[in-house]
Amino acid sequence: MEKKEFHAESKRLLEMMINSIYTKKEVFLRELISNASDAIDKIYYKSLTDDSLSFNKDDYYITITPNKDDRTLTISDTGIGMTKEELESNLGTIAKSGSLAFKKENEIKDGFDIIGQFGVGFYAAFMVAKKVTVLSKSLNSDDAYKWESSGIDGYTIEKSEKNNVGTDIILTLKENTDQDNYDEFLEEWRIKEIVKKYSDFIRYPIKMEVTKR
Ligand code: ADP
Ligand code: MG
Repeated sequence: MEKKEFHAESKRLLEMMINSIYTKKEVFLRELISNASDAIDKIYYKSLTDDSLSFNKDDYYITITPNKDDRTLTISDTGIGMTKEELESNLGTIAKSGSLAFKKENEIKDGFDIIGQFGVGFYAAFMVAKKVTVLSKSLNSDDAYKWESSGIDGYTIEKSEKNNVGTDIILTLKENTDQDNYDEFLEEWRIKEIVKKYSDFIRYPIKMEVTKR
């Protein structure tokens, strides 16, 4: 008898993810904020075991920036960031959890704060975004990289510029249709409402940057 492996059809899986795992579109923000928090936890965790790293609480936070002019919503963190390889493996493979791997590598027992484990939360972004751009600079790399995807057609990675270690997730929101309106995710009051509803327990400050126009 021969034993064979299942092939996961990534594109179909992604479509399924985007359309049926979540009942409400608004939870994309919960997923991106929990990833940001995980990324900060990882740098914090490293600082506990690496004397050359100090953890100054004030330097670690999450920023949400809506921009109505270009219809983007950016979620930034000052966490551990991703190398080119990590962008490729963590965001290029559906259901691959870098957080689960991190927990195993560092023998972190349950109870530690890192939330991620299933490796699918990130893709919730495609419920509201027609394009997702990830700009990241890893603690372990001098170079920054830009990962970009418009969904099922795949993604690109290129070298880029970023001053500080951490990650910016830039969502270019979908166009409104008769059935769906995405503009609400650019409204300060609405973002605050979603953050309060799902992310109240996050231990790091969540700031919002709004430009008056
Ligand atoms: P999970 O959080 O369950 O691991 P996700 O699909 O939410 O799965 O994210 C996949 C992986 O991508 C994460 O495990 C992490 O390694 C990486 N990742 C996502 N967002 C960030 C971020 N803001 N900073 C650093 N790594 C991230
Ligand atoms: Mg996650």
